[in-house]
Amino acid sequence: MVVRFAPSPTGPLHIGGVRTALYNFLLAKKTGGRYILRIEDTDQTRYVPGAEAYIVEALTWCGITFDEGPHIGGPHAPYRQSERKAIYAQYAHELVARGWAYYAFDTEEELEAMRQRLQAAGMVAPQYNAYTRSYMKNSLTLPPAEVQARLRSEPYVIRILVPRNREVRFYDEIRGWVTFHSRELDDKVLLKSDGMPTYHLANVVDDHLMGVTHVIRGEEWLPSTPIHVLLYEGFGWEMPRFAHLPLLLRPDGGGKLSKRDGDALGFPVFPLRWQDPFTGEIANGYREAGFLPEGVVNYLALLGWHPPGEKEIFTLEELIEAFSLKRVQKAGARFDYEKARWINQQHLRRLPIERLAQAVQPFWAQKGLPPLPPERFQKLLELARERAAVLPDILEAVRFFYTPPALPLPSNLADRLNPTVLEALPELLAALSTLTPWLASSLEEAIKGWAKRLGLPLGKVLLTLRLILTGEEAGPSLYQILEVLGLSESRQRLERFLEVHGVPKRV
Ligand code: GLU
Repeated sequence: MVVRFAPSPTGPLHIGGVRTALYNFLLAKKTGGRYILRIEDTDQTRYVPGAEAYIVEALTWCGITFDEGPHIGGPHAPYRQSERKAIYAQYAHELVARGWAYYAFDTEEELEAMRQRLQAAGMVAPQYNAYTRSYMKNSLTLPPAEVQARLRSEPYVIRILVPRNREVRFYDEIRGWVTFHSRELDDKVLLKSDGMPTYHLANVVDDHLMGVTHVIRGEEWLPSTPIHVLLYEGFGWEMPRFAHLPLLLRPDGGGKLSKRDGDALGFPVFPLRWQDPFTGEIANGYREAGFLPEGVVNYLALLGWHPPGEKEIFTLEELIEAFSLKRVQKAGARFDYEKARWINQQHLRRLPIERLAQAVQPFWAQKGLPPLPPERFQKLLELARERAAVLPDILEAVRFFYTPPALPLPSNLADRLNPTVLEALPELLAALSTLTPWLASSLEEAIKGWAKRLGLPLGKVLLTLRLILTGEEAGPSLYQILEVLGLSESRQRLERFLEVHGVPKRV
């Protein structure tokens, strides 16, 4: 299987584009095939600087890799269509010679006049097609000598000659047989007057030259496919198989999830943060929102594909194993951000601790927090990973570590402190100061013993200590908190509390 991902660098890659790239990747890997990245940048008016680099960075972050592409080269280089310009014109002319395309010389004004005439006659969407071409200026209507003369002296385009009154059928791996009638199709421009190909020509020529066997792309390209089918027929080339992936819908089901939704829906629609090079506007990304690539990939895989059975949490390797086009649905897939967060949470729980530490590190640094020795850092993260859905949740959960409680405690919290515990604090402090080793297990033993001696329920002791040490009512295990804070920080916090709250200090 040879597949390709063929984005146009017109801005940041939308999360739906990442899903298309992912499905192609999964199939290439599953079948031991080849995966090509091709940049479709023939429309220079829509070119956005930085977009190609963004696409490569985003897919690399997701773990989606290629066998060929502009960033790694390969046997079909170049992989940017703008660098393949010379190839397309030759094929467009060949198609004219084969009787499947023709030259057209109509000016903008003439095209506009045609549209207005037809609209006046009651046609809603007038097109240059099998019916209208017969009274336009092209190589089908003009005498051959005039055509030759015009070709030498005038700008011209090459249009596909859509056959009249024919059904164009193709088999879609997801939708089954799809039929268009040629009357629904217009004679699309293949080569523009500046010699640049349009999407249709460049896409089909490259898929053929690169040996692509399966074209897997978003549903929005379905209406283009009959044109592509005709091009394959015109060239006499073997057609690839087609699969059109379901649209991604907004969470309310109200239409397509689009790039323009930006952050307006309360969640990112891009894999990475993107700053628009023209307006400076910033759009948030999944990476910066604290998602793991594993979480994003897992969630996107389920957006339109259903594995057999109940399993929902997959690594990339497991997805490769389980994925098949047969289980991709036709209906649009509704985006569900809560589900994305839940899936990410499952991956956060499973991530090896060294990798979790690596993933949290940029967020830690961004807060201006100094690096910690790896073992200590990992212990701290271990305390918080269970309930975190995204990486910043972990930082939030260990806030106690880098922000000692503001003292005096607000009265709603201070009211919950147990006076007997407070009185005995200096004694506890003295006992803890000599405790070795300083580990959660020995701390637990010491504190339990101490609560018993005081004749207090353990819960009260723990709550009071938690409030003093963290300023919070709930959180990770207190013994673990003490362990990661370490003796000296724990002691400082207890002492400072005694100073501020004025409980007699007897140490
Ligand atoms: N350049 C098109 C895009 O931006 C490619 C569509 C296709 O895969 O054929 O999505």
